Amino acid sequence: MSGDFECDLLIRGAQVFDGSGEDPKIADIAVAGGRIVRIGSDLSLSSREVVEASGYALAPGFIDVHTHDDAAAIVRETILPKLSQGVTTVVTGNCGISLGPSPLSRRNVPVPPLDLIATAEEYRYQSFGDFLDALRRAGPAVNVVPLVGHTVLRARAVEDLTGPASAAEIAAMRSDLAAALEQGAIGLSAGLAYPPAKATATEELLALVTDVANAGRLWTTHRRDEHTAVVSAVAETIDIARRSGARTLISHHKCCGEAAFGLSRTTLAMIEAARQKIRLDIDVYPFTASSTVLIENFAQDSRKVTVSWSDSHPEMAGRDLEEVAAGWGVDQMTALKRLKPGGAIYHQMDDDDLERILSWPPSLVGSDGLPRDRRPHPRLWGTFPRVL
Ligand SMILES: [Zn+2]
Repeated sequence: MSGDFECDLLIRGAQVFDGSGEDPKIADIAVAGGRIVRIGSDLSLSSREVVEASGYALAPGFIDVHTHDDAAAIVRETILPKLSQGVTTVVTGNCGISLGPSPLSRRNVPVPPLDLIATAEEYRYQSFGDFLDALRRAGPAVNVVPLVGHTVLRARAVEDLTGPASAAEIAAMRSDLAAALEQGAIGLSAGLAYPPAKATATEELLALVTDVANAGRLWTTHRRDEHTAVVSAVAETIDIARRSGARTLISHHKCCGEAAFGLSRTTLAMIEAARQKIRLDIDVYPFTASSTVLIENFAQDSRKVTVSWSDSHPEMAGRDLEEVAAGWGVDQMTALKRLKPGGAIYHQMDDDDLERILSWPPSLVGSDGLPRDRRPHPRLWGTFPRVL
């Protein structure tokens, strides 16, 4: 509280960007009790602390709409990559991967890509609510907006992850989803490009996304394909969005591999047309390299692959796959197999596509950073400065 002062903090003369998209204005801002109480020019208020901010820009905290910070938000220090960029809100649980409920009810280890965000010991929350309780106890340094992951629900319910789910398995996923939404999940995320979710039938997803729509929440999707089949993957997303009525967010929109370069012209036109009738958004990170677990077809479509972590060969983190393979006297695919489980950075996009997607006015910015990586993709620490 302010005590003898009229406010706790007075920031003077900053160039204020208020988040509305309007031109910035030079203004003073007064804060009391943790809230902005006055905005104006030449405020004459007594303040516990005064910051002379002439020559500086001032903006609301940024929202990182696409993160894998589920575990990082519980361990305060590891959220530094976000705080240091001015991010004060993170959306967690993306790409089908969330820390709760535990995906280990049928298996002892998290199947890739679930190992991107946490170890088996860290996947200890039996329900989504248990994860949220742990988050509240930890008191994270950022606001957390949590999604529940479809791949996690699948790993709990589906016997054979390489095939479509049975009616009973879909019913089990719907029951877990209902519980998570009830306990506080803001929606569902899908990661259809990854092996444990690749066999998901459109109807399986539609059943879950319809539940999301009925609960008034949203779903986000790392689509089935971001390479040459990116156009049909966008069409499937639009189809599910239209049939379910759910608010939809396409995650990290991109076109990977030389054969897909330029397809963002088509996909953005499709998305723009669909937005006339449905609530559809996209997010994007400002780099032409992606990063995820070690996957053969990602490596095959890349100009260069850099190892970001490897449980079997931790010493190779930070080195290029080509160099690792040459050192071992094997081809790159053999080296990739030996490095598993692990992750990599894939240089596989085109500047023109990135520029087109990033400069499209409705695009949201999401880092997709991976805080668990030994040698992380720079998007973890550098997304927001790079956009600015
Ligand atoms: Zn993803």
